[in-house]
Amino acid sequence: MTNCIFCKIIAGEIPATIVARGAGMLAFEDVAPKADVHVLVVPERHIESFRDIETLTPDESKEMLGFVATTARGLGLEDYRVIVNTGPGGGQTVFHLHWHILAGNLPAFG
Ligand code: 5GP
Ligand code: ZN
Repeated sequence: MTNCIFCKIIAGEIPATIVARGAGMLAFEDVAPKADVHVLVVPERHIESFRDIETLTPDESKEMLGFVATTARGLGLEDYRVIVNTGPGGGQTVFHLHWHILAGNLPAFG
């Protein structure tokens, strides 16, 4: 999608620190980290939000979740938090589905 910052990162049109790539997914460091480790995982195909998750096939969904877990493992993490902000009221500011992987100095939640 032309005006999507994450599509531009995926296309290599704007720089990002890439952590992992594969299975139609890309992981890169958040430009403004909210924890010691803060990595974003995105599908290469533009999907606006988690609300649209059912546009993925069951296999794609499984691959995506596996990629999030594999990326965290590749970062050497055992304990971490995965967040998907959904819609403006849920804190979403970039409208390309992304999974936050956060670790270290995390505030208590829930
Ligand atoms: P959201 O608030 O939509 O759940 O998360 C968007 C995240 O994208 C934020 O944590 C923000 O710091 C990050 N972000 C926004 N623009 C860029 C960018 O150009 N590059 C990178 N690497 N991260 C970005
Ligand atoms: Zn996009």
